Amino acid sequence: MELKCDFQVYHPLGGASYVFEHDIVNYILRKSKKKKIVISVGAQPNSSPHFGTLCVFSLAFSLAKMIKENRCDKEVSVLFEVVDTAPSKTVEINGIKYQKDLKDSNKMTDAMKDFQEILTYFSQKNNISYSVRNQNAFNSQKEIKTILKNIVSKQDEIRYMLDPDKGRLRIRCTCPKCGLVDKEGVNTIIENDIIKSICPEHGEYIVNYIKNSNRVEYNTPLRNLVRAIIYGIISESSNYDYEIIRITGGDYAGFYQEELLYKIASILGYKADMLPMILYCPQILDWSGAKLSKSLYVKEGAYSDLPKYVINYSFLKEKFGIAGLDVIMDETMLWLNEPYRLFRNYSVYYFIKLFEERGRK
Ligand SMILES: [Zn+2]
Repeated sequence: MELKCDFQVYHPLGGASYVFEHDIVNYILRKSKKKKIVISVGAQPNSSPHFGTLCVFSLAFSLAKMIKENRCDKEVSVLFEVVDTAPSKTVEINGIKYQKDLKDSNKMTDAMKDFQEILTYFSQKNNISYSVRNQNAFNSQKEIKTILKNIVSKQDEIRYMLDPDKGRLRIRCTCPKCGLVDKEGVNTIIENDIIKSICPEHGEYIVNYIKNSNRVEYNTPLRNLVRAIIYGIISESSNYDYEIIRITGGDYAGFYQEELLYKIASILGYKADMLPMILYCPQILDWSGAKLSKSLYVKEGAYSDLPKYVINYSFLKEKFGIAGLDVIMDETMLWLNEPYRLFRNYSVYYFIKLFEERGRK
């Protein structure tokens, strides 16, 4: 089969693109109650940022810029939440999976250089400040203790929603001696204020997560839940002068958030209305409609038919220089200016065409 394409782009309306066809920024501003708005994005810095991550970051700065242009009394900044508790490597010992965290590896150092470079570029280009926070700092926030206690006390009601397969509450702490952690919580028990776990080398260790909440780590659904709840609490609280909007990849929209965030938050006693607004960045899809995956490229040599610059930032920079990011930035600005373009996904060929057109100018 040979794919033929006439390169016409259509934007059929439906769902959110119908409701927010012409405006999204004023809708966001009408809901905003505070002077300061923080736009949060997250990523696991395990290698040079994936093309989809570049779109998420670019959309965050585009939104910040548009908010400021619309309402000059608002202070807007971008917050990069670094998921440094993601695995740098996984090992299996006696049939149990253990991971070493990114934060304990040097893999993260090189990747963070790229992230910092991108953040600085977008920041200077749009005159928007940004900050970077790791998981230790995130979990040191005082509200985390209450949220965790609440989750632990209702674990029997929610653990099969968060982990339908095994029903394990994936809150964990690394071994204080070697940094290994029981990835799937096989030998981890959470009760009252205590997380009890076993290191294959150093035996049992106990962490009081109320006293040492900074040491706590989560799997992705739990991190997503805890993050949304604390963002909601901060945005509502008069003790903080800012509110938080989240931008994340479109692969998390829909069933995932409804089942794993909104319904569980409701069981825990948090109203859906207090949870933060989440704006989903369009996904970049391959020919079959699957999202482009950096790890498939690295591990399995996928996408050999595509130009490398759509895989990650280092290839993009190699081909176009750092100004290659402008192509993405122009596009994410367009998504917000004409939001019927925002509530849909894009094929990788759409972006390749944008880069080719830019090259001809
Ligand atoms: Zn150990």
